[in-house]
Amino acid sequence: MDHEDLDSDLVLGTDTLLTQLVDDTLILTSPPFLYVQTFVNTSRGVFTLFVKSGNLPTPVTGTMSRQSLQWPPEISESELDTLTLLATTYALSHGLVYLPVAKVQPPAPTSTIHAPLSLFPSPIPRKQFEKAKNLQSLYNVLYARIATDVDFLDRVMGEEQGVGQVDEFTGQLWRQWKRLRDREAGIVQPLHLGMFRSDYMVHLPEGSDSPSLKQVEFNTISSSFGTLSQQSAQMHGYLHASTGYFGSSSHLTQENFPPNTTASGLAEGLAAAHKAYGVPTAKILFVVQPNERNVFDQRFLEYDLLEKHSIHVIRQTFDDLAKSAHVDPQTHVLKITPQSKQIAEPVAVEISTVYFRAGYTPNDYPTPAHYDIRGLLESSRAIQCPSIPLQLAGGKKVQEELTQPGVLEQFMQNPKLATTHSREDLEAIRSTWMEMWSLDSDGENGVDRAREHADNLVLKPQREGGGNNVYKDAIPPFLDSLPEKERSAWIAMRLIATPKGLGNYLVRAGAGTEGAVKTNVISELGIFGWALFGGEDGKVKEKEAGWLVRTKGEDSNEGGVAAGFSVLDSIVLVD
Ligand code: ADP
Ligand code: MG
Repeated sequence: MDHEDLDSDLVLGTDTLLTQLVDDTLILTSPPFLYVQTFVNTSRGVFTLFVKSGNLPTPVTGTMSRQSLQWPPEISESELDTLTLLATTYALSHGLVYLPVAKVQPPAPTSTIHAPLSLFPSPIPRKQFEKAKNLQSLYNVLYARIATDVDFLDRVMGEEQGVGQVDEFTGQLWRQWKRLRDREAGIVQPLHLGMFRSDYMVHLPEGSDSPSLKQVEFNTISSSFGTLSQQSAQMHGYLHASTGYFGSSSHLTQENFPPNTTASGLAEGLAAAHKAYGVPTAKILFVVQPNERNVFDQRFLEYDLLEKHSIHVIRQTFDDLAKSAHVDPQTHVLKITPQSKQIAEPVAVEISTVYFRAGYTPNDYPTPAHYDIRGLLESSRAIQCPSIPLQLAGGKKVQEELTQPGVLEQFMQNPKLATTHSREDLEAIRSTWMEMWSLDSDGENGVDRAREHADNLVLKPQREGGGNNVYKDAIPPFLDSLPEKERSAWIAMRLIATPKGLGNYLVRAGAGTEGAVKTNVISELGIFGWALFGGEDGKVKEKEAGWLVRTKGEDSNEGGVAAGFSVLDSIVLVD
């Protein structure tokens, strides 16, 4: 019997080898042994196994922990080739795809490449998955409350007191918002729509055998890969249905593949905003990046909006909008006159909701005029997804600020609010946080602590979209070069200790003959949710809306799929 096999069998208790568990004694039946008896001490995570073959029992000792789950299961070369072929053809035929790399995308695409994907779903502890889903409602409400707390956002993100003082991008956005607050008409649309994704990793520090769920970040703008993650989960379901994954693991059962309906879930959020706007003939505006390759992830939302809600979508870049957008000075209605042949009628159409799949990075605003276009959209009656304050609420600095004493209570247990939450709810949220602090906290202390704990830390600026963070041994030299003034724009965060020894077969986007690469991996779970809020009653209408798993090679710090560091994955639940 293979030692490591047994290790994982004991942990998971589902293998055919296990026939009975009585107190601390496992009764196993397996050839070539007639009878095998195992004594385990689960509390200490140590087991001693007595293999009784004939008359001579032979003791074998090992360590037991969840980390020893063998993943991916073992398959042969030819099975691997089959899975790769089935996965990539499924991806190409079901729209789990990107546009190919091109300097300028053609006006109408003629080809696609499959998205980066994993052949096996990745194991996520069932309890942690349930917890993440249940937490989403609380997080939806929390971020809705933050976005409507003007004083808080001015203090933390503003240009006079907060991060906006030293971070130009944050400052620009905040200034646009402030200008609108200060004008005579003020903010004319009280409602905001959030399309959120809360990202987590499983935390399992060495020596511990109880995994927990820790939040990486909370996204309030352009949260992507909702609909492609649904396709990715369906692809894994298909691989199971067609091959049974060759009987390689008892975990691979349909019951362990949770359903994922992100497309309809997210479209429902946009439809709720559209309905609240109250003009059925209006359209939803998708603000997109020029030469976007991840268009299909966005198109699936459009199809759902049209098919299930009869809502039309117009796609425009900031540059398109410079020519096409108009806000009526009296009614504040936003109208778009499309320049291209995107839609049949060349007349101006009213916009109910502005959904940003661009605008989260300074690269999307190459000139000051681009910030003015953002301001123009925000000045209108159209519901913004997200509004500028909701985008600011998603700042890493806000995530850190929430961990300060009393701040979470201010948003979730304040008697002035429409509803308050229980201590248990607050504890559940708090239990997902890693330690964080600002580099400018307590004089030199923030930086000194960062130097001291560098090996266990990531530093993050106020940016989204991957590739901006500083990790571990890059931290001390980075701190040497960081002007003191800029410290307040950075937070330090303890690294989440993800389970070791898990692997997968990863297939790069359009990998061609390269095929699947087996490597040790780290998975990141994202839970989608939406929230519509800001009305006079103070209520937050919200829902959880499906999930995403991105998986990256263990040696990569970053995890963005679009940035090319990771693949789309899905979940096999394990106990
Ligand atoms: P971005 O807004 O650029 O996506 P994130 O906070 O999500 O920034 O960080 C990018 C990536 O860095 C994550 O996807 C994750 O892989 C890694 N990462 C971030 N914070 C942590 C952490 N505390 N522990 C471990 N990995 C982290
Ligand atoms: Mg991220």
